[in-house]
Amino acid sequence: MNITPRVKLATQKKFLPHLTRIPLHRAMRWVPKDEDMNSVEPPLDIFLTQNAFVRMCAHAGSDLDNEVGGWMAGKYCRDSLDGTPFIVIDTILPAIHTEQGAAHLTFTGDTQIALHSHLEEHFPDKVFLGWYHTHPRMGVFFSHWDTWLHQNFFPEAWQVALVIEPHRSVGGFFIRQADGSLDQHAYFGFYELTKSSQRSVVFWRNLQPAPQFNDETEEVLSK
Ligand SMILES: [Zn+2]
Repeated sequence: MNITPRVKLATQKKFLPHLTRIPLHRAMRWVPKDEDMNSVEPPLDIFLTQNAFVRMCAHAGSDLDNEVGGWMAGKYCRDSLDGTPFIVIDTILPAIHTEQGAAHLTFTGDTQIALHSHLEEHFPDKVFLGWYHTHPRMGVFFSHWDTWLHQNFFPEAWQVALVIEPHRSVGGFFIRQADGSLDQHAYFGFYELTKSSQRSVVFWRNLQPAPQFNDETEEVLSK
């Protein structure tokens, strides 16, 4: 007898990183204002397009009483010169069929099927890089439930989670350490991919711009 599984999510592709230059030269880095968090280097560099940031903030602000969320897609990359891993989030897929409550949000089977088929159909060259969700009036942290969901839905080292608190306009990324552990109270900033104007669209009060001291900057400065 041939049994066709209703949910075909377990099909794991082997994800190979794209080899490309890390786009530091057209990005603005945002770091937590909190000095303890600021002193920890993120295990993975996250690049976020301005469109993706604006879309997630708009979704986050659309319901100030219930948690809302969705999935983030784009490219998993390695720098072609030094091998540094990084991700570029440029596609936001809000989840429609969610089960919301004051306590937490979950993605139903229908949502997962819809998101996977949407990505395959419209963005076959992209992968899911993680998820985002809101914590109205609760703050930026990772609950036990969030940790469980992250481990089960987004187990790859390069998959991340973003938590947004829409009332206070704060937000931060949660990223696993190399050993797979994740600090539920320490969030990270990100690199905002600015267009040629170099004008930022980031307005979160808990983040601040960081000066960039990469090799390219030093080269420019020494000329
Ligand atoms: Zn949560």
